[in-house]
Amino acid sequence: MKIVSLNIDVDPLFCYYSIHGIKKEDVPARDPVIYASIPRFLEILERYSIKATFFITCGHLKKDDFSILKKIVEGGHEVANHSFSHNYKLSLMSASDIEGDLMENHKAIADNLEYECRGFRSPGYNSSREIIKSVRSAGYIYDSSSFPSFIYNIAKWVIIKKKKFSGKSSASIINSFRDSFASCKPAFIDNSITDRSNEGDFVELPITTLLPPLGIPLIGTSLTTFPKPLFKTMLYLSSLRNYVNVETHAIDLCEVSDSVLFMPVKNMQYDLKVSLDQKKRRITKTIEYYLKRGFVFKTLAEVAGLKLKKEI
Ligand SMILES: [Zn+2]
Repeated sequence: MKIVSLNIDVDPLFCYYSIHGIKKEDVPARDPVIYASIPRFLEILERYSIKATFFITCGHLKKDDFSILKKIVEGGHEVANHSFSHNYKLSLMSASDIEGDLMENHKAIADNLEYECRGFRSPGYNSSREIIKSVRSAGYIYDSSSFPSFIYNIAKWVIIKKKKFSGKSSASIINSFRDSFASCKPAFIDNSITDRSNEGDFVELPITTLLPPLGIPLIGTSLTTFPKPLFKTMLYLSSLRNYVNVETHAIDLCEVSDSVLFMPVKNMQYDLKVSLDQKKRRITKTIEYYLKRGFVFKTLAEVAGLKLKKEI
């Protein structure tokens, strides 16, 4: 069985302000990313009767935001933990602060959405032994923070340096360039992350990147904005794999006209300038591509469950 997972990181506008060094006081009371994009994602998923995994970070959300997020749970999708603070430096925090942040988010999701998370993704894909240890001790069955992409890390490094040069400080960090060369397959991991074996009680589900170790990211930004021939090549290359893990962000289905609050980041987020029509079309074409080739859509928790039973 060939399997594909579609996941959506529901990063609120605060995250983009903080990456680009825009002051926090500019952050709105209601989050335009959530209001604009979640109904669009849910409509597409429902149209194709597929279930996805939504990674939620609660630290910057207001009560009203949860009423939209509730529709994710009502739609039968998986909700997973994306940390409370969405602090890109989570991996540098102390063990007790990491655990506190993770459990605060777990509780916020349980309280507001009546949902018990079973999986985690670290902000900015920056994982560490302490993070994995905390995720495992929370009783979770998987982590999906691994993002083996050399070109992504290089691009991130350039952005951080450019910000520094222009006097702004980015909240983003490079965890380790070694992460670029991690495995692309679902694998059992222990607390040391890299120590993989043929069995275990915890699974790492890497985000799919192509042409290792270059690692062209199979993510919403590339799928919605790359030129058509490259888009098609990426889908083709990914379809040669038995498992594909497509990561998107909620902002992938937003456009500048959705809210004036996007104005401060519009010149820094190239994808915001791409028309919503094109982005919707590319996401639906991606789904159709895998369905036509016999892939079965599964949530990350479902995939982790299959791996734990050694069925994949
Ligand atoms: Zn995120």
